Amino acid sequence: MKVFKFGGASVSSVGAVRNAAQILARFPGAKVLVVSAMGKTTNALEEVARHFYKQTGEALHAIQPIISYHAAIIDGLWEQEGTRLPEVEKLFQQLETRISGEPSMNFDYEYDQIVSYGELISTQIVSLYFNHIGLKNMWIDVRHCLKSDDSYREGNINWELSEKLARQTFRFTNGEFYLTQGFIAGTNTNQTTTLGREGSDYTAAILANLLDAENVSIWKNVPGILNADPDVLPATQKIDELSYKEAIELSYSGAKVIHPKTIKPLQNKNIPLLVKSFVEPDLPGTVIHAIDKPLNLVPIFIVKNKQALITLTPTDFSFISINSVSDVFTLFARHRLKVGLIQQSAIDLSLAFDEPENGVENLIAELKSKFEVKYNTGLDLITIRYYTDQAVAEIKTGRQVLIEQKSRRTARLLLR
Ligand code: ASP
Ligand code: MG
Repeated sequence: MKVFKFGGASVSSVGAVRNAAQILARFPGAKVLVVSAMGKTTNALEEVARHFYKQTGEALHAIQPIISYHAAIIDGLWEQEGTRLPEVEKLFQQLETRISGEPSMNFDYEYDQIVSYGELISTQIVSLYFNHIGLKNMWIDVRHCLKSDDSYREGNINWELSEKLARQTFRFTNGEFYLTQGFIAGTNTNQTTTLGREGSDYTAAILANLLDAENVSIWKNVPGILNADPDVLPATQKIDELSYKEAIELSYSGAKVIHPKTIKPLQNKNIPLLVKSFVEPDLPGTVIHAIDKPLNLVPIFIVKNKQALITLTPTDFSFISINSVSDVFTLFARHRLKVGLIQQSAIDLSLAFDEPENGVENLIAELKSKFEVKYNTGLDLITIRYYTDQAVAEIKTGRQVLIEQKSRRTARLLLR
């Protein structure tokens, strides 16, 4: 069997869903299709979750544009104004009921219960539409077989249990076509969790691993993996193939094209990942697989913005010891901050990380008991894999460099 993943952009409109159907129709046979929320629905639902949690009184109002957006897609697909799909209406009613109640104290929990509707709704629409046009498929509620712990907004998969349940659910006896949600999972007590923003790629990889897929294809609005974000660098080049290791390097450095957790489940079972264009589905795209020969790659630029940099100097002038370094990392883990770059000197330790949504003040207050703390926010972390001196010089032009690190293959720059 094969796993396909269609992200938000590939199901964001009537035309996009029809195009997805055409692509799927070319691949008869056993498959699982993983679908994300339509267009920018997840962002819109995040807003709803915030209104609900803060009890601003705006939550019910904020879901109206989400309802009309989906209604227009349904009308367009069925070519009939006012088409009603009871399965979808039921989901919107559940969502309305939830946000009319009172939130608990746990924002991350409330977030997952609300934001997950994006995928539940999109998969219902796409599945019903595909069946309507004769592309027979079975809709699966992935929360019943993909089991995670209760780390809301970043669920950790219970692999053993999920494998057992997934094999019971996705039974390929006769070339079945299953359609299910990306990004979401369920706890043992049937609460909904999410796997981190842009997590649908990860879902596709997990299911591929659990079900021993032949390959996974992720369909995107770009021709494959590019050597830079076209918004940042105009002259981009497509990369034909990458090793798993290289792909992990790129996604952990912040390359947005695939979710960082996607590669490992595939690499563990040697399952190739194809990144393909839903605009030009005949083009080969990028293949990520096991490669043992060295690849000759052009410089690859990865930009992560909204970075914070903290520099710590122990107040007692003790050199940063192994213990204090480990304390710092424990603290960062507790605040769920992902450190992207570290620089240590004899007396200080600098760490760059994604700026948290609610600011760095709490963290800094905690650090101040042990260290003198200096910090900057609003920085860019730029990674250049296979850098050349020229590539580094171009990126630095006209900008202040706070940290520059080079290893054999990788240059990393923290810039203002
Ligand atoms: N809909 C989710 C998001 O936008 C998951 C995904 O698209 O992969 O983050
Ligand atoms: Mg998305």
